[in-house]
Amino acid sequence: MKLLEQLVTTAGVPGREHRVRELIKKQVKGLFDTVETDRLGSLVCVRKPRPKKGAKKRGSKKSRPTRVMLAAHMDQIGFLVSFIDANGFVRLNPVGGFDTRNLFARIVTICPDIKDPSKDITGVMNPGGKPIHIASEEDKKKIPEVKEFMIDLGLPAEEVNKRVRIGDMVVLQAPMHQIGNTVVSQCLDNRVACWIAIRAIEKLKHHDCEIVCVFTVQEEVGLRGAMAAAYGVDPDIGIAIDTTLCCDTPGVPDTERVTKQGDGAALTVMDASAIADTEVLGAFESVAKKNKIKYQLSILSRGGTDSGAMQRSRAGVRTFTLSCPTRYIHTVTETVHKDDLHACRDVLAAYLEQV
Ligand SMILES: [Zn+2]
Repeated sequence: MKLLEQLVTTAGVPGREHRVRELIKKQVKGLFDTVETDRLGSLVCVRKPRPKKGAKKRGSKKSRPTRVMLAAHMDQIGFLVSFIDANGFVRLNPVGGFDTRNLFARIVTICPDIKDPSKDITGVMNPGGKPIHIASEEDKKKIPEVKEFMIDLGLPAEEVNKRVRIGDMVVLQAPMHQIGNTVVSQCLDNRVACWIAIRAIEKLKHHDCEIVCVFTVQEEVGLRGAMAAAYGVDPDIGIAIDTTLCCDTPGVPDTERVTKQGDGAALTVMDASAIADTEVLGAFESVAKKNKIKYQLSILSRGGTDSGAMQRSRAGVRTFTLSCPTRYIHTVTETVHKDDLHACRDVLAAYLEQV
């Protein structure tokens, strides 16, 4: 859980993934044969086959091993500074979709230096407008848009202008908690996937496939990193690892819950970006059964993952999405069950060992 905590408390919005990338680079030392950053910033980690000693080589001598690309996006939803007004209030442009109902009265971090957290500045974020005492009934019902929010840094405009620039990354401040059987934090979407990928690779003993594990950038603004990386990697099979909705809470009918917390790894049959390759889906299901790993099948009618980008790369890639059920997604209290997290890790490792 220490690694997960480091991952969720390291800032990295789309296009500003530098800190997370450095953290992952350190963590994966020794796990891969090569680790490189591509032109968009995705971290591409290659692990050649590790066949069992004495095992017969699969396929003809000339044929290359099956290449499996894993895609775990490392960006998180957040903001970029878009404007500093005459009184020193900072305005924002969203990168990724926060529900603005969850953005009231937040402590935030502005990161003027992409790489150096010691330059970070703490601020308080609220929508503009009147406090409850003097707000009209009409005001109270209104849900503000991101452009109505502002950050107060407690500094005069002159000082703010010296320290903050348009384009600086902004993230919310929120610690990770372990509550009951769950982990609660911001940006479990998608740092849990970074965790699942790293931990699954650590578990691997032998595998005949070549694994290219890509920690992708800019997923939250339209699967951009995965699109470029998939072209470069040219995989036979693409597996996105991501969070998915878990709406098994009051106020949502069962038919719309997508997944159930604690029921295991979610094998995604389809989402709005891709329909799973039936053979890959079938293989995941059978390794889960064989190894007695808890799983559930899920369909997400809206939203997509890096699978959507990988699938349409070059002449097409057989893709699948392994999802971790996540309650309260896109808030700072995203919640995952530890059993589901472990099931995702185990089923991924079991799949890679037999493909
Ligand atoms: Zn995601």
